[in-house]
Amino acid sequence: MTESTKYLLSEDRLPKAWYNLNADLPVPTPPPLHPGTGQPIGPDDLAPIFPMAVIAQEVTTERWVEIPEPVREIYRLWRPSPLIRARRLERALGTPAKIYFKYEGVSPAGSHKPNTSVPQAFYNKQEGVKRLATETGAGQWGSSLAFAGSLFGLEVEVFMVKISYEQKPYRRALMETYGAKCIASPSSLTHAGRSILEKDPHSNGSLGIAISEAVEVAASRDDTKYALGSVLNHVCLHQTIIGEEAMMQMEMAGDQPDIVIACTGGGSNFAGLAFPYIRENLKGGKVRVIGVEPASCPTLTKGLYAYDFGDTGKLTPLVKMHTLGATFMPPGSHAGGLRYHGMAPMVSHVKELGLMEARSYHQTECFAAAVQFARAEGIVPAPESSHAVKAAIDEALRCKAEGKSESILFNLSGHGHFDMQSYTDYFAGKLKDNTYDQAALDAALAELPKVG
Ligand SMILES: *Cc1c(COP(=O)(O)O)cnc(C)c1O
Repeated sequence: MTESTKYLLSEDRLPKAWYNLNADLPVPTPPPLHPGTGQPIGPDDLAPIFPMAVIAQEVTTERWVEIPEPVREIYRLWRPSPLIRARRLERALGTPAKIYFKYEGVSPAGSHKPNTSVPQAFYNKQEGVKRLATETGAGQWGSSLAFAGSLFGLEVEVFMVKISYEQKPYRRALMETYGAKCIASPSSLTHAGRSILEKDPHSNGSLGIAISEAVEVAASRDDTKYALGSVLNHVCLHQTIIGEEAMMQMEMAGDQPDIVIACTGGGSNFAGLAFPYIRENLKGGKVRVIGVEPASCPTLTKGLYAYDFGDTGKLTPLVKMHTLGATFMPPGSHAGGLRYHGMAPMVSHVKELGLMEARSYHQTECFAAAVQFARAEGIVPAPESSHAVKAAIDEALRCKAEGKSESILFNLSGHGHFDMQSYTDYFAGKLKDNTYDQAALDAALAELPKVG
């Protein structure tokens, strides 16, 4: 018998429901608060920017949420995504560990993000919304929402962090191919953008600023709602299709992971793979669950667990999360999708409950791991995903040193085909391991809102 490399589910095994970890946590996730009153926000507070179906998913404690059939039909364009055993990487490392990865780069946009952009566009369309405004860092989310908008006939307006707008012209071209409009942020189209530009006309922008601009547009126009690509509960919910599929595929492989690994920017691809495993851990399972973040933006490992704004302009509700401070400007890095000052409240809560581990790496060691992975397995990882690759390789090498054959499962959240400039810079020795400025971090944390 030959040994399998890919574990593929047929389309009829595409999950019919997303999994909601909020149904099973021993302590509820702290609710978002209204910044003015300090009281938990209600659906009415969110109605100007989100459709009702999405707001309902944000607060639900139902364990399973049905995936609408029109969404499943679109998922079938690329899902179920493959689970791959990285046998060649195992051999290259000389490790007795078994390495598996769930490959989300097979989606049209090249990452896990269409798992949530498609249902978000669907619910907006159902409620008569005409336009969606959003932000994007490296361009992965913007192109995912542009793709979803094109399927449902919605106009999409994307505020793209200026440094990425300049560094990643092909992501912009992809958004335009799907019919979206892409604007460099900070822009002069919004109050939030203009106030940043007044202080710093050469601002590189940040996710926090771009969120402020998109929320402002949605809040000020009746025909426009806002869509967020990570962080919120409904996004974590939509991404659990990754873990639900992976569980079936690990069963096909006749194996179970000892360790589950994903990179963490806003936390959604991590939540997607890990939450179903955390559910099993709450019933007595013993899977180690590890989130991996950049050392230059170390939200889970160095941030405070506190109520903070989701955006720099302080327009959003307060959410309890690991944060570096809403005004903190993380240093530039090629993993633009991980360059966010906060973390999903659910992921932060899971960390506080001791249900996951977190670690950080510098970008050059992640690129080295990504190159080693590409030369063994062929797939070029997105710079964000390279953080998970690095952690998986480190765990496999630990297994080698300890003579253990543990099973490691990681999320390869996307491919790096639009990020080749960062590989070029890496090969040219131009990448720096930027560290954040401790004084700037302290100043941003000192500005955290006071919540009684
Ligand atoms: C956006 C992105 C991330 C980070 O976002 P999460 O919400 O933490 O998953 C990671 N990997 C890729 C490929 C991305 O596009």
